[in-house]
Amino acid sequence: MTETYDIGLGNNDIQTRKKADSDFISFWDEQAKNLTWFSFWNKTLDWQPPFAKWFVGGTINASHNALDVHQETKSEKPAILWEGENGDSQILTYGEMYSQVQKFANVLKSLGVQKGDCVTLYLPMIPELPVAMLACARIGATHTVIFSGFSATSIRDRVDDSKSKVIVTADGGYRRGKIVPLKEVVDEAIKDFDFVKNIVVVQRTKNEISMTSKDKFWNELMNDVSEVCPSEKLESTHPLYILYTSGTTGKPKGVLHGTGGYLTHLYSTFKWAFDIKDSDVFFCTADIGWVTGHSYVVYAPLLHGATEIMYEGAPDFPDASRMWDILQKYNATIFYTTPTALRMFMKFGDDIPNSFDLSSLRLLGTVGEPINPEVWKWYFKTIGKEKCPIIDTWWQTETGGMLISSLPGLETIPLKPGSGTRPIPGVNITVVDENGDDVEPDTKGYLVVKNPWPGMLLTLWGDDAKYKTVYWSKYENCYYPGDYALKDSDGYLWLLGRADDVLKVAGHRIGTAELESCIVSHDDVAESAACGIPDEIKGEVIIAFVVLKQGVDTETKVLEKELVEKIRTDIGTIATPKQIYFVSKLPKTRSGKIMRRLLKAIGNNEKIEDVSTLEDSAAVTEVQTVFDEIQKSIKESK
Ligand code: ATP
Ligand code: MG
Repeated sequence: MTETYDIGLGNNDIQTRKKADSDFISFWDEQAKNLTWFSFWNKTLDWQPPFAKWFVGGTINASHNALDVHQETKSEKPAILWEGENGDSQILTYGEMYSQVQKFANVLKSLGVQKGDCVTLYLPMIPELPVAMLACARIGATHTVIFSGFSATSIRDRVDDSKSKVIVTADGGYRRGKIVPLKEVVDEAIKDFDFVKNIVVVQRTKNEISMTSKDKFWNELMNDVSEVCPSEKLESTHPLYILYTSGTTGKPKGVLHGTGGYLTHLYSTFKWAFDIKDSDVFFCTADIGWVTGHSYVVYAPLLHGATEIMYEGAPDFPDASRMWDILQKYNATIFYTTPTALRMFMKFGDDIPNSFDLSSLRLLGTVGEPINPEVWKWYFKTIGKEKCPIIDTWWQTETGGMLISSLPGLETIPLKPGSGTRPIPGVNITVVDENGDDVEPDTKGYLVVKNPWPGMLLTLWGDDAKYKTVYWSKYENCYYPGDYALKDSDGYLWLLGRADDVLKVAGHRIGTAELESCIVSHDDVAESAACGIPDEIKGEVIIAFVVLKQGVDTETKVLEKELVEKIRTDIGTIATPKQIYFVSKLPKTRSGKIMRRLLKAIGNNEKIEDVSTLEDSAAVTEVQTVFDEIQKSIKESK
């Protein structure tokens, strides 16, 4: 029996779902009217599978909706409460953002950027990043943000792909107290690209950098331009940005998003999921280099005229209390983070968050990976003090915004730890078998989306063919996200891991999330990753990698026994791993997700390929060493 948590918090709007169920197109048509349009559309949805155009003929501007619309009522209201890693801080009001964005839009124009051009942004988490994004949007340039942890090679590939004439970067960025030399990395990345005409440099760290004639300082350019730059009236389908996926399963894909549909999706989901109020202080910890940062740090909160915290650095710097310190300092009311971050905080123990006043919090969100029920309960109890609903939001870079989530802004439903609950109104999501038929309740299968939705990607940048094969070829006219899932008899959806990672043992299928959550529910375990490797007799066997909580000194032999016992009782003998490996860290993407494909490669004695999105290569080396040692001792004992 799954535990349910009903704290009765949430609105009671039955009409919204009713309308959405009866006709999703006119439902989204109505939602789109929450935004400010220069002219209305003549067709709500032009659906030429698999290409969707929303609000065709309508004209709109993202920057106008994020800033101009608030000037009359909120020009003095803080938009961004910025906290630097080194303790610097800055408050930017809606009025200040408005003026900065217009000025930087004029800077871009003065550098020859025109509507339809791409501009690459390689910046740390500083206010200039959202300013530059909104400035691009203002003049109809397509931004392509590259996460500031990426190396020269990753930048080279992406700049080459988008052919950006202008790159915006910083002299450096702070990460764990050290300066990351961003300008130097850009110089290396673009040294063979004549098409790059200018590099704009924000002075964040004031470290020494070399400047050539094409390099310009942000501040100097901003001094020379007018403060007025009207927004371009753009087609609803105008490309707002290109963003590469996290690269958890392989090479990142260049996802292209439009404007009117995307903004409609964000406006609605932000309101439904976070029940946003004028008095809220919202804190999303995602880096803007990832889609969560694009959608729920930059666009959604600003569309609503909300106040939000933006943090520059590592979540555990200078120590493990940093997040709680920020929440307390700014009286944050909504906190949105990842299961990986939560597992890390949990590993440090409860005393740290317990020594802060977190009573301003009213909602807690999570995104990025399945949240283990154990971690969910810790979040609910230790951080939310059992009074804040947990909003588990499932979505992808490709979906633009949330597609599955509990929605307190709309309705009150009991929560189940580990389930994202139900699809948002206006999308038809179900679980199907290999043939595309809906499975019975409580049966595992593949998640699919059966109708287009407004935040849906336009295509993969420059590669319609790949767009069709990756997402639309497994099932006819259904979007295939590549996730394994289950719908229970209450209609709640459970995300069980990547479809490619499903563990197949003796005719049974087990999602990685099911097994990992069982392992993580052991008191001594902080994190776990499971994968399947070929076996001569059984076809496939499971191996699991386990990271222990800080200060655990139980012998691994004892722990291994306890874990196996736990798996046998909670899931069944079938799920018993052939071997458990204890390591100090797991290989993760730079966005913090476990890269099971690397573990699988090690388990299969395969060459490890494409590690461009890997956070820390030491994790792979350690996993490899531990794996080799155990394999060797097994062989010797035979
Ligand atoms: P790539 O597509 O390049 O392998 P990625 O899938 O990690 O990278 P993202 O778009 O950042 O890139 O992540 C989306 C994926 O993250 C989803 O498909 C899902 O597997 C996982 N995910 C996101 N949110 C949740 C959630 N709340 N519960 C379970 N899984 C989630
Ligand atoms: Mg993906």
